[in-house]
Order: sequence, then structure tokens, then C-alpha cells
Amino acid sequence: MKILVMGPPGAGKGSQASRIIEKYEMPSISTGQMFRDAYNAEEPIGIEAMKFIRDGNLVSDDITNKIVRLRLHKEDTTTSFLLDGYPRTVAQAAALDEMLVEMESNLDAVINILSSHDVLFERMEQRRVCKKCGRTYHLRFKKPSVDGVCDKCDGELYQREDDSHESVKRRLEIYETKTKPLLDYYSEKGILYHVNGMQDFDKVTDDIFLVLDELV
Ligand code: ADP
Ligand code: AMP
Repeated sequence: MKILVMGPPGAGKGSQASRIIEKYEMPSISTGQMFRDAYNAEEPIGIEAMKFIRDGNLVSDDITNKIVRLRLHKEDTTTSFLLDGYPRTVAQAAALDEMLVEMESNLDAVINILSSHDVLFERMEQRRVCKKCGRTYHLRFKKPSVDGVCDKCDGELYQREDDSHESVKRRLEIYETKTKPLLDYYSEKGILYHVNGMQDFDKVTDDIFLVLDELV
């Protein structure tokens, strides 16, 4: 099963992706997480990408397509994968289609997680992320057992620079103009499924599993 998880920033893509990959045993490919890992490892591509990420802008299509292409060439993507946060532009969707043709493959489903801007602002301001393993917390809805410390790996929790109010505003604008048009693209292919992301974590997961269980 090859799927995309789409939705505006803060909709819950990463949170749901971790549950999906556990149930269906597939690798998750999150371009945002790949950029953050590269930045934390002080790799040139991560340092370059963070110049854009910090202010809520998109990283260039060229760089982004390149890292996805390299990742999809690994063996673990032959039978299944989940893409989180990619594609985000029409040019990226076209590049992904080319990669899929080369792999003699295709997408089975695009899950679009819906949410209102009010909820998204609140979620991103309350989001904390583990520096070491990337696990995500919410200061109210998914609190770590010990303040500032990851439950899973004891890593330090931090607030993403791009979760500042100004940056979130910019990301939502970009989502509306550059990413949302992709929904029509996938709807025309007949593989788009909408899920209400403004429910509690487990209900969102149940709704996604209802869709995916039909496909396996
Ligand atoms: P995205 O990957 O789409 O940017 P995340 O999965 O990181 O979003 O979620 C954004 C924030 O909202 C995180 O702090 C997460 O814990 C919280 N969150 C995600 N889904 C829900 C939900 N259904 N209810 C409450 N909080 C949620
Ligand atoms: P995310 O973790 O998905 O919220 O992504 C964090 C940031 O990484 C985004 O705001 C962008 O700056 C950058 N990014 C992630 N995925 C992409 C992509 N597909 N295209 C361009 N930039 C991206």
C-alpha cells in the first residue's frame, strides 16, 4: 500500500502517520522531519533548508524532489510507503508521478486531514518535538510524563522555530495557495479521502483505518 497523508500544517499528519506505519508496517517518509534531522546533524542540506523553514517558506522543489527520490530508491519502499508532507506543490506532484512511473508503481490513497485555522494555530503553538527522535507532543492533549523530556528516548523537547505565530501564518497562506490545489489533482485520480482532524487522536485514527482497511 502506497499512500500520502496530506493536510494543512498542524492537522495531525505526523501524529497519525506514526500510528498508520505501526499498524500496516510501512516506512514513513516525512520531508519536514528529514530536513530537521539533516539540520540537527549539521548537514549542508539541512542548514540550507532551515533558511526557508524558519520563516515558514517552502524549501525549493529541486532540493525536496532530490531527497525524496534518493529515499524512494531504498529497498524498503518496494511494496509500501507513507509520504507525509510531500508533495506540497504541483511541480512536486508531477515529479512524484515520474518517480512512481520509474518504480512501476502508483499511489493507492491520499488521506486528507481537515482542520480549521483556529485549531491549527492552537496546535502548533502548543506543539513540542523531541530533538533526538522527532516524537511530537502537545502541552495539553499529549503531555510528556516529565516536563521537557521525551517519554520514549529521554531526549530534550523543544518548540520548532517555525511554530511561531508569524511563521504559522505564512505556512497557512502557502498551504492555501500552493498545496491545497493538489487536492483537485488527486480527487480527479479518484484516490482522495477526507478525514475530520478536529476529533480526538483515536477517533481520527479510527476514521483513517476505516479507509485503509478497505485497500489492504
Ligand atoms: P502535522 O504533522 O500535520 O504538522 P502534528 O501531528 O505534528 O501535525 O500535530 C500538531 C500538534 O497537534 C501536535 O502537538 C500534536 O500533538 C497535536 N495533535 C495532533 N492531532 C491531534 C488531535 N486529534 N487532537 C489534539 N491534538 C492533536
Ligand atoms: P512539516 O514537518 O511537514 O511541517 O514541514 C516543516 C517545513 O519543512 C515546511 O514548512 C517547509 O518549510 C519544509 N518542507 C517540508 N516538506 C516540504 C515540501 N514537500 N516542499 C517544500 N518544503 C517542505
